[in-house]
Amino acid sequence: MTAHLSQTDILIAGGGLAGLCLAVAIKDALGSGTTVTVADPALAAPPAEDGRASAFAAAACRMFRTLGAWEQVEPEAQPILDMVVTDSRTMDPVRPVFLTFAGEVAPGEPFAWMAPNAVVTRALRARAEALGVTLTAAGVDGFTADTAATTARLTNGQSMTARLLVACDGGRSRLRDMAGIRTVGWDYGQSGIVCTVAHEYEHHGRAEEHFLPAGPFAILPLKGNRSSIVWTEQTERAKRLCALPKPLFLDELETRFGHRLGVIEVVDKPAAYPLGLKVARDFVAARLALVGDAAHVIHPIAGQGINMGFRDVAALAECVAEAMRLGLDPGAPDVLARYQRWRRFDTALMGATTDGLNRLFSNGSTPLRTIRDLGLGLVDRMPALKGFFVRQAAGITGDVPRLLRGEAL
Ligand SMILES: Cc1cc2nc3c(=O)[nH]c(=O)nc-3n(C[C@H](O)[C@H](O)[C@H](O)COP(=O)(O)OP(=O)(O)OC[C@H]3O[C@@H](n4cnc5c(N)ncnc54)[C@H](O)[C@@H]3O)c2cc1C
Repeated sequence: MTAHLSQTDILIAGGGLAGLCLAVAIKDALGSGTTVTVADPALAAPPAEDGRASAFAAAACRMFRTLGAWEQVEPEAQPILDMVVTDSRTMDPVRPVFLTFAGEVAPGEPFAWMAPNAVVTRALRARAEALGVTLTAAGVDGFTADTAATTARLTNGQSMTARLLVACDGGRSRLRDMAGIRTVGWDYGQSGIVCTVAHEYEHHGRAEEHFLPAGPFAILPLKGNRSSIVWTEQTERAKRLCALPKPLFLDELETRFGHRLGVIEVVDKPAAYPLGLKVARDFVAARLALVGDAAHVIHPIAGQGINMGFRDVAALAECVAEAMRLGLDPGAPDVLARYQRWRRFDTALMGATTDGLNRLFSNGSTPLRTIRDLGLGLVDRMPALKGFFVRQAAGITGDVPRLLRGEAL
């Protein structure tokens, strides 16, 4: 058995965006004196080219730049230069614009960028390898924590001891369940249909969010004449839409997309992702921290899911780096308690905000529409409030960890 027992300082279960970024952040801060391992069966293959793309807030891009991962992402990332919000019925011929945001958080720095998830994952993997992070293509199957270390069993038969185990294993986190951490939340009964559209005319970096009765329909600009669609529908209807033959799916899409960008074509296979709210009651347990979707899953209405994950990453990396530089144990209860204090309130607030927005806008009721349109119209006339929302979307409000301010650890 001992032949299969290895050691690492930090073991990260899950090599998605959150897990890889955390590995890079810790290794970049602490260098060769600290060993960091990422274990994930998905590391056996290149990142999935599944057509998913995300809005990365300015703060996340500052962190990528600081960590040396941005250079590889930037050529394939599209800055979001402005955003329009409309509130209408699906068949309305004209969709009145209630809210517009344009803005940079600093000269030449847009509040967010759109990039394919595969591009960012590839860049983070490359950076992790260059820094000497150990990437292991195996899952974590179980673990036992004691006062000095935690011992994890991997699906390749290996066991590994670590001072800190971090669960970055996604919304259905097995590690969270194995630690007995419960979650609060609910399913929305909605799914987000995701696909990529090529269009005739340029989008000029404009993002659009149309609040339709079934839920938000977002058109998010990608590099070139392409946009990423996140289209919310009731789950059963979303499944039926995804199963339609291509021309019929395109008809349904065009009804919502409109003709502003000319002729459109769907360039990949639409896929539907069930949407829900799920927040862990605790973000830590003995020698364990939850990060990213393992700690919280929220509605994509505000494009903040992985951006919250990056706030976890930056906060935990800062707690761990400061502790280890002082020769302290990164898995000690006070280090983990600091991380939990830092992230829990912010997460609850964002969870409640996206939940409230989704309830308010996934609804065709006329009185409710009148009230929300009045609210949107008022925000649109208040530059200071709009400025606040832009800074919020950029991820630079509140107690921002150093990496997200663009400062090295
Ligand atoms: C329709 C939609 C649109 C979205 N748009 C945006 C957006 O615009 N902006 C934004 O910020 N967010 C967005 N999000 C949210 C974002 O996609 C997620 O927050 C993000 O992908 C979560 O990343 P993660 O690394 O925490 O988890 P995941 O991406 O789920 O990665 C988890 C990893 O863990 C691995 N794993 C699982 N079990 C184990 C185990 N036992 N051991 C080891 N490894 C394991 C898996 O193989 C996987 O690689 C959107 C979500 C949806 C559904």
